[in-house]
Amino acid sequence: MNATPDIVAAAQERSGGCLCGKIRFTVKGEAVYPHTCSCSHCKKLGGGPMMWWAGFAPENVTWTGESEQLWFETFKGEAKRSFCPNCGTRLAAIDNGVPELGIVVTALDDTSGADLVPVNQSFRDDAVHWLPQVPDTQKKSPVG
Ligand SMILES: [Zn+2]
Ligand SMILES: [Zn+2]
Repeated sequence: MNATPDIVAAAQERSGGCLCGKIRFTVKGEAVYPHTCSCSHCKKLGGGPMMWWAGFAPENVTWTGESEQLWFETFKGEAKRSFCPNCGTRLAAIDNGVPELGIVVTALDDTSGADLVPVNQSFRDDAVHWLPQVPDTQKKSPVG
């Protein structure tokens, strides 16, 4: 076994930000449970048939840029989603019981990482019928 790719993945730092550039951030390490979600909230918030999420340890996410993101509680006291108050770009998610901070993958500057490829799609029953669904390729069932 060669551990080098894991070490590289753990050390990698990626940048991201909103469309107007007032909010910027960096994430370090490998993405946790990259997935798409076609729930009714994600469709409303994302403005499309699904959103694309990946988790990162909160201590590995650094917010920079000149503005503060705004948070909207999608379920009071349980879940909130953030966006840029200037341009509306969706940025992050905090869910009770989920240790990682959810990052909207499309907010990253480079979305090509192998660890960002969705391993599942949440809320399949709410998905549009005209788009193929993301296959479930996860090895074990995560929560959420
Ligand atoms: Zn913005
Ligand atoms: Zn969703």
